[in-house]
Amino acid sequence: MPELPEVETVVSDLNKKIKGDMIVSFWSEWPKAIKPASSADEFSKKIQNRKILGVRRIGKNIFIDLSGNKTLYIHLKMTGHLLIKPKKEVRPLSTKTTKRGQTSNEKQNYFEDKVNQYIRHKFFLKSGKTIEFSDLRKFGKIVLDSTDKINNLKEIKNLGIDALDPKLTFQKFQEILEKKPKAKIGIVLMDQNVMAGIGNIYRSEILFSAGILPERIISSISKKDLQKIYDATIKILKKAVKMRGTSDSDYRDTSGAPGNFQKVLAVYNRERQKCKKCGTIIQRETLGQRSVFICKRCQK
Ligand SMILES: [Zn+2]
Repeated sequence: MPELPEVETVVSDLNKKIKGDMIVSFWSEWPKAIKPASSADEFSKKIQNRKILGVRRIGKNIFIDLSGNKTLYIHLKMTGHLLIKPKKEVRPLSTKTTKRGQTSNEKQNYFEDKVNQYIRHKFFLKSGKTIEFSDLRKFGKIVLDSTDKINNLKEIKNLGIDALDPKLTFQKFQEILEKKPKAKIGIVLMDQNVMAGIGNIYRSEILFSAGILPERIISSISKKDLQKIYDATIKILKKAVKMRGTSDSDYRDTSGAPGNFQKVLAVYNRERQKCKKCGTIIQRETLGQRSVFICKRCQK
């Protein structure tokens, strides 16, 4: 599932590429993902001729603010990604032919089709660009409502502070965690209603970097170690944003390109490989029904 760094990459791409544009129509092959429930045509009527004022994020949730006090709320869930396609160019007549006899355009189209074969929804923009929602497993969702109503949705109101919100100081971080003294740190870090944005990949990386085992009970962790977890959270999330996220499976940015953080993962998905710090074999355990990866020597 895309986590904070992946969603942040998508949001900053959207702001660069489509802010100020206008939605002219909408197409969907999977209207079940649309809320309030409607057909793609009805949805298209409600959204058309609305200007895109800007895109923001809380945790893994994307908000596209539109003119007329409307907001489009998008959750990518397990396998969703948003692609921005440029205006379709008229093909030049003299395309170079490769050795295999394919034109470079054909090669490009082949690549795009392989990446984007699960397009479920498309927003057509006035500039000629399209926003395309690719979603292999169809768990993603799109909600259109007044900005107030979106902000007051139970799932949005209940979200904790965004993990990269500048207001999340160490003091605040400590206060939040100390409200759950009996909980395991590896569970609380992923609880979107405590702090929003961290999922499976980054909890493993953060706790490895801090040297803390995920099953540690919060009340047993010293202030010094909490500071290490806080510092690791900020450092790793910022680094992952800079590297445009982790593509361990199907995450892609808005141009269809993978992120880069998978190249520097310390423990996540490195089961039975050697710890880069001490050489101990990395182990996979289950915590909160999800896998967590640890080095039993580096983490206490
Ligand atoms: Zn180690």
